[in-house]
Amino acid sequence: MRIVFATAELSPIATVGGLAAAAAGLVRELRIQGHQVDLLLPDYGGVELVDERISTLEVPSWVGPARVRSGRHAVVGDIHLIAVAGIERSHPYLRPDGEGWPDNTERFLGFSRAVAAFVEANRPDVVHVNDWHTATTLAALDGSIPSVLSLHNLAYQGTAAADWIPKIGPRGLHYEWWGGLNPLTGAIALADRIIAVSPNYSREIRTPEGGFGIDEALGFRGDAVVGILNGIDTEIWDPATDPLLVSTFSALDLTGREANRRALSERMGFASDHVPLATVVTRLTEQKGIDLLLPIIPVLAEVPVRLAVLGSGDASLSAQLHAAARSHPESFAFVEGYDEALSHQMFAGADMFVMPSRFEPCGLTQMQAMRYGAIPVVTAVGGLVDTVIDLDLDPRQGTGVVANAADPVAVMAALFRLARRITDTRRRERIQRRIMSIDWSWAEPARKYVTIYRDLVTTD
Ligand code: ADP
Repeated sequence: MRIVFATAELSPIATVGGLAAAAAGLVRELRIQGHQVDLLLPDYGGVELVDERISTLEVPSWVGPARVRSGRHAVVGDIHLIAVAGIERSHPYLRPDGEGWPDNTERFLGFSRAVAAFVEANRPDVVHVNDWHTATTLAALDGSIPSVLSLHNLAYQGTAAADWIPKIGPRGLHYEWWGGLNPLTGAIALADRIIAVSPNYSREIRTPEGGFGIDEALGFRGDAVVGILNGIDTEIWDPATDPLLVSTFSALDLTGREANRRALSERMGFASDHVPLATVVTRLTEQKGIDLLLPIIPVLAEVPVRLAVLGSGDASLSAQLHAAARSHPESFAFVEGYDEALSHQMFAGADMFVMPSRFEPCGLTQMQAMRYGAIPVVTAVGGLVDTVIDLDLDPRQGTGVVANAADPVAVMAALFRLARRITDTRRRERIQRRIMSIDWSWAEPARKYVTIYRDLVTTD
């Protein structure tokens, strides 16, 4: 099958959040399964390609001609990097001061028109767009090529003023939403299938509580809205071969895990003993609920549990976490930053992994944690519901502990419930072996995407 896949993020070229990892993982697996994928990414600049060919794409409209650099990237493989006016920047969305680029609407609506022109010129079997940044592509197409929209995070919708509506293409009127332009609602109306990144998220987003104001637009599409859980790259995330670990280990032989635990405890300034060690690896945003942990920190020493957070983002939250670490250095540590190497250690050295999200479309870190034997403590939202089975509900197949609400008391109760359960080493290792053996690879999710593509092509 021939698929045009357009995304604003792609690991490791342009990584901001889960979209980058999901796009890279899905495209890689689709190619392994024998499909031809034209991968389109904005040319943010500074990316080297082998066997590079440069062409000009005529984009009928205000966008003007776009430059396309096609070639092979060392990690990603074949790719087309598309440059429209203003797209080349140091960060896909943000200025160095953390504010959005003022022309983000123009940049991504322009990119989307270029994607549509590429689709028209190449006539693939299916066009697959992701989130708001590429959602207006469908406005410039006539609907004769089957289309799929993936929803990675409804919190970002890319809304803009109504005068953009005629500029995005002949089907622009579908994108009108409460007097303005909403890239997501338009693509939700026009795409043949809408795929949320987990089954539970696909249900939540059709409710007023989880729909970010556009649940009705999704409700209109009925069965066209489905959920497919993301995978993770199980070659990069493999404790048996991971070069970023102090010592490798596997579900069959956990011996090497202890050295990682010791190294992590030392790095966090903790004593190296049997007190359960919990970690968090996250962006610091409202979504992730890290503020819910603040009231818990003063009582950690009494349980006892130790907690270490690696995170970057919101400045006031990081100031509060720094202050808490200064007040309770024996049981709480905070490392500010986005640190890939340390993140691997945080998964490999921890007994527990905490994810108190207020909402979570899919979540990758709980899967990464489980692959490395850190038992998850999560809230009952989004993809966390699809990936974590509570040990008290199902002691034989349980994979973690689920807090029944995103509030400090419920999260604390869940954390302490797991801490008590794993004080017995044999019991803990049994759970660790179980969660490390789960297949989180992209193989199965990619097959589900292909089934959807095929359905669309054959019913067309
Ligand atoms: P989101 O996309 O909402 O940030 P996900 O769990 O879907 O959350 O994906 C986050 C990805 O970013 C994971 O691969 C995770 O390991 C990585 N990550 C998040 N925060 C950090 C950090 N502070 N340092 C290193 N890696 C991080």
